[in-house]
Amino acid sequence: MEPVRTPAPIPADPGTDRARFSWDMARGWLQGLPRGRGLNIAHEAVDRHAAGPHAGRTALRCIRKDGTAQDLSYAELGARSSRFANALGGLGVAAGDHVFTLLGRVGTLHVALLGALKHRCVVTPLFSAFGPQPVATRLALGNARVLVTTSTLYRRKVEGIRQQLPALAHVIVVQDDERDGLPTATLDWQALLASASPAYEIGPTDPQSPALLHFTSGTTGAPKGALHVHEAVVAHHATALYALDLRDGDVFWCTADPGWVTGTSYGIIAPLSHGLTVIVDEGEFDALRWYATLERERVNVWYTAPTAVRMMMKGGAATARAHRYAALRFIASVGEPLHPQAVAWGMEAFGLPIHDNWWQTETGGIMIANCAGMAVRPGSMGRPLPGVTAAVVRREADGGVAPIEEPGLDGELALKRGWPSMFRGYLNDEARYARCFAGDWYLTGDLARRDADGYYWFVGRADDMIKSAGHLIGPYEVESVLMAHPAVLEAAVIGKPDPLIGEAVKAFVALKPGIAASDALQRELLGFARTRLGAAVAPKEIAFAEALPKTRSGKIMRRLLKARELGLPEGDTSALEAA
Ligand code: ATP
Ligand code: MG
Repeated sequence: MEPVRTPAPIPADPGTDRARFSWDMARGWLQGLPRGRGLNIAHEAVDRHAAGPHAGRTALRCIRKDGTAQDLSYAELGARSSRFANALGGLGVAAGDHVFTLLGRVGTLHVALLGALKHRCVVTPLFSAFGPQPVATRLALGNARVLVTTSTLYRRKVEGIRQQLPALAHVIVVQDDERDGLPTATLDWQALLASASPAYEIGPTDPQSPALLHFTSGTTGAPKGALHVHEAVVAHHATALYALDLRDGDVFWCTADPGWVTGTSYGIIAPLSHGLTVIVDEGEFDALRWYATLERERVNVWYTAPTAVRMMMKGGAATARAHRYAALRFIASVGEPLHPQAVAWGMEAFGLPIHDNWWQTETGGIMIANCAGMAVRPGSMGRPLPGVTAAVVRREADGGVAPIEEPGLDGELALKRGWPSMFRGYLNDEARYARCFAGDWYLTGDLARRDADGYYWFVGRADDMIKSAGHLIGPYEVESVLMAHPAVLEAAVIGKPDPLIGEAVKAFVALKPGIAASDALQRELLGFARTRLGAAVAPKEIAFAEALPKTRSGKIMRRLLKARELGLPEGDTSALEAA
């Protein structure tokens, strides 16, 4: 047998190699399947480590709700995922079939996802908190052949909709409620794995073959299914090096739910591809639990989201400082704008800045970031990663786009196509996919501005822009000013139709704990915003809200605030977080 290829060494200081970077060079940091049989995500994430010097290293440290932990080594993760791959084969499931998971943040998810990728199935992790209808819609859209879930989730969410899903041939359940036994018409996960072989040779995998189907967050409309291929792992691996500062031997914690793309790209694939130890926290969000976890597990790199940071800020920096984070080296955030106050709070609470980065389900990996070794600009998303060409563009009359060279001007954020984790299609919607491109440019649907040093600043989503008295107003700018007021915890801004000025800016504000809403505070906030933004851009109206409606990935749903304000139908709310 031909020996496996030795991956090229990753530069000790990636920063110095930025200029030389190419995606081909990053491909060389991975191993590829033995005997030149292609590239498979699961081989890079687990098998190559299970067969190498790190076989005994902890791949997953699963922290149960009660705080106790269970470790799984690379060798064990390799064997278990191989058992699942064999079990799929035994069920007659073929390469290209769609496997869904409906599981919380548990190690079983990693086993199922990697096993299904080994078998060359297309995998979709769903949010375990979805109700029956969102689950049914996505399983039907994705033509699910196999679903892995728990007996409790099955009874609550799937049993009643099973008839609607004729293509769903196999439901495999992890029994978490022994009293009720195995639900009818399901297979037992434990038994299936126990009877399958722990050895599995991954078949030839074309790097361009489909691997992952992720639904977008549904912030601006019905969630779209974005398809990604196996070579996406090149981007997961390389971007994590630059934007998350992953280093050999690190303990890494990504707090994102596996039901959205961050939980897969950076909660599973990227850190495992680097052979690191990944924290899997089975508990719900709880600031005190998180501080304790960061300290006890000696987390080196922590990847989280603005919504979690804002929740932690509620408790004050002193609560965070009650712990010691001796190992913590790097903190990053994604999903929404990270306001400068949050970056400052990171310094106060942890002595480290929080590095904002930007990407989308469609891009599959981080595209713009305040990278390791680069000065953080609070409020900015950072600069394009090595291998990524970004631009602020203007749409031309002929349907094309032209980059705006001059810094400081707003336009649509576009990326030059060709990075490995770029989505290859929207499920069942070729026309929509085609509309995302103009020549070589992928149009992101977000508006941004670039400063003279090449840092990008988020302006707003194209759908959320407000046209008021001839001005185009980005909600982010207005929200940022409101957030700078000491009483404000969160803010969301919408345009409300107005006969005189087209749209009037209206803000919804959630206050910090212990601060009461009052007419006086409302007037104060209106004045505060007007002084800083000017009368044309400042909100005309401010309403206090207990909480702002969010997607399950933590994004504020402005379209819902607007629909409610105008008494219009709420549209697709399948991804709305239960209040
Ligand atoms: P949908 O496309 O269904 O409306 P969504 O765009 O929220 O949902 P995701 O792909 O999960 O779904 O989110 C990507 C979007 O999140 C980006 O297009 C951007 O608007 C926002 N976003 C992500 N990171 C940042 C960031 N660092 N700063 C500002 N916005 C961000
Ligand atoms: Mg989107």
